[in-house]
Amino acid sequence: MNDPDCLFCKIIAGDIGADIVYETDQVLAFRDINPQAPTHVLIIPRRHVATINDIAEDQAEDEIGRLYAAAAHIAKDAGIADDGYRVVMNCNEAAGQTVFHLHLHLLGGRNLAWPPG
Ligand code: 5GP
Ligand code: ZN
Repeated sequence: MNDPDCLFCKIIAGDIGADIVYETDQVLAFRDINPQAPTHVLIIPRRHVATINDIAEDQAEDEIGRLYAAAAHIAKDAGIADDGYRVVMNCNEAAGQTVFHLHLHLLGGRNLAWPPG
């Protein structure tokens, strides 16, 4: 396991259950336990990285790119790609990050207010 104290590492290891919707060698995506929209999926790297600030600069394009590629794939599968959806990554407390394993929120299936508040 990447980090034995990390909730999302436990999901990756299969120690905690999750409703997995998509996976590759490097990415796992599962439904948020407290959904804020009809489609609310969390897309995470299998490798433990705590926040955006902790991504190695020379890996940032690959690390983030993979998450966005997965988001587009899942949105198309869910039938929300044409209507539109939002992807959000919170970094640290002021932005509301509560789980310190990098994750991209994919939200869709309803109209989303902007600015988010
Ligand atoms: P953050 O606030 O860090 O951006 O997002 C963390 C997200 O993880 C929240 O939307 C929260 O509902 C979700 N979450 C927390 N614990 C669990 C869990 O055990 N399983 C799943 N599927 N989602 C979780
Ligand atoms: Zn982790």
